[in-house]
Amino acid sequence: MALDFDLARLPNPHLGHEHEEWRNQLRRFFDSHVCPYAAQWDEAGRIPDDLWPLAGDMGILGLGYPEEYGGVSEGVDIWHKNILNEELARVGVGGVSATLMVHNIALPPVVNFARASIRERIVPPVLAGQKRIALGITEPGAGSDVAQITTGAKRQGDHYIVNGSKTYITGAMNANWITTAVRTGGEGAGGISTLLIPTSANGVTRTPLDKKQGWWCSDTATVYFDNVKVPVANLIGAENQGFKVIMANFNDERMAMSAAMEAFARVCLEEAVEWARERQTFGQRLADHQVIRHKIAEMKRMINATQSYVQVMSNNVQNGNAHAGDIAMLKVQCSQTMEFCAREAMQIMGGMGYMRGSRVERIYREVRVNAIGGGSEEIMRDLAARQYGL
Ligand SMILES: Cc1cc2nc3c(=O)[nH]c(=O)nc-3n(C[C@H](O)[C@H](O)[C@H](O)COP(=O)(O)OP(=O)(O)OC[C@H]3O[C@@H](n4cnc5c(N)ncnc54)[C@H](O)[C@@H]3O)c2cc1C
Repeated sequence: MALDFDLARLPNPHLGHEHEEWRNQLRRFFDSHVCPYAAQWDEAGRIPDDLWPLAGDMGILGLGYPEEYGGVSEGVDIWHKNILNEELARVGVGGVSATLMVHNIALPPVVNFARASIRERIVPPVLAGQKRIALGITEPGAGSDVAQITTGAKRQGDHYIVNGSKTYITGAMNANWITTAVRTGGEGAGGISTLLIPTSANGVTRTPLDKKQGWWCSDTATVYFDNVKVPVANLIGAENQGFKVIMANFNDERMAMSAAMEAFARVCLEEAVEWARERQTFGQRLADHQVIRHKIAEMKRMINATQSYVQVMSNNVQNGNAHAGDIAMLKVQCSQTMEFCAREAMQIMGGMGYMRGSRVERIYREVRVNAIGGGSEEIMRDLAARQYGL
C-alpha cells in the first residue's frame, strides 16, 4: 500500500543500489537490536550502555567522519545520513537517537576546529562507542539568544578557570567531555570561545533532568562548573571565535533533524492508516468515512511536500550550495509536518492513541522538543528573514 512507511516515500533519483543496501543493513540492525526493546528503555529512562559499541561497530556512530579516526567517509554522502536518520525515526522512540547520536552535534567542532593532539585523543573512542561527548551551549539565562551566555573562562597561565552552568544538555550525565560555549572576552558573540571540558575535572557536577514530556530514555542534565581548570590546549578554534564554531554546526544539525521529522510524520501516517483500515464505526471502516479519508490524504500531502523540500535541500548540501535561510525554513516545514501528522494520527486512533506504548503517542510527546531544539520555529523564521535580506 502506498501509505506505509516505505511506500509513502516519493521516488528519489539520488539514491542508488548502495544506499538501498545501507538502508537494509540498518533495518536489520534496528529490527534486531533496538525496535523490540526501545519502548521499555523509554519507560525505564535509559538505553543500555552496550548499544554504543554495537552502533560503533555498525558504522552508525562514525558515518561521515574521517577514516583516520575510525569513521566511515569513503563513498558516504548526505543520502546515507538521511537514511540513517529515517531509520532511527522509524523506531518511534526519539530519545534513542537523541542520546545515542548526540555526538553528531558535539564532535564536529572537535573534528573541524580542535588541534590535532585533541582530535587524535577524543574522536576515535567516541566513534567506537567507548567514550561519549555532549554539547553545552544553553544556559539557565540564555537559550535562543546564544550570544548572551555568561559561563566564564578566565585565562590563568596555561589554563582557563571556568565558572557557570549549562542546562538541558543532552547526554551530559554520561558524557566524558562537553564541547562547551564559554565567555572569554567581552559582551556579545565576539567574546565567546568553544572549550572541550572533561567531565572528570574537579569542580564539574551534574544533575539529571528526568521529568520531561518526551525523550525519556535520553539523558538530559544541568551541568555546573565551579572553578574548573581546563588546559588552554582544549580550545576548539581560536579564542573569541567560538560563535562561528557553534554556528557552523547548526546547519548539519537542522538537516539531520529535518530528515528525522519527515520520517516521524511517515510513522504517524503508517500507524493511522493501519488503524483506520481495521477499526469499524457506524457500520464501516474508519477509512471509509470521508472526514477520516481527508485527514489521511492531508497527511500524505504535507509529507509529499516536505519530502520534496528535504530532497532539494539535501542535494544542495551535497553540492555545497545550500542556503542557511532555506535550511532554517526546512526545519520549520518539517516540525510543522510532524506536528500535523502526530495530531491527526492521534485523533484517528481515538482512545487507543491516548494509551501509552504506541509510536504515535510517543511521537506526539516529542513534537515540541523538535520544534524548539536546534533553533526554535520562531528563531528559524527570524534567521531566514535576515538571510533573505528582508
Ligand atoms: C530535551 C532537550 C534537549 C536539549 N539538548 C540540548 C543540548 O544538548 N545542548 C544545548 O546546548 N541545548 C540543548 N537544549 C536546549 C535548546 O537548544 C533550547 O531549549 C532552545 O535553544 C531554546 O532556548 P530556551 O529553552 O532557553 O528558550 P528561550 O530562548 O527562552 O525562548 C522561549 C520561547 O520564546 C521564543 N523566542 C525567543 N526569542 C524570540 C524572539 N526574538 N522572537 C520570537 N520568539 C522568540 C522561542 O522560540 C521559544 O518559543 C535542549 C532542550 C531540550 C528541551
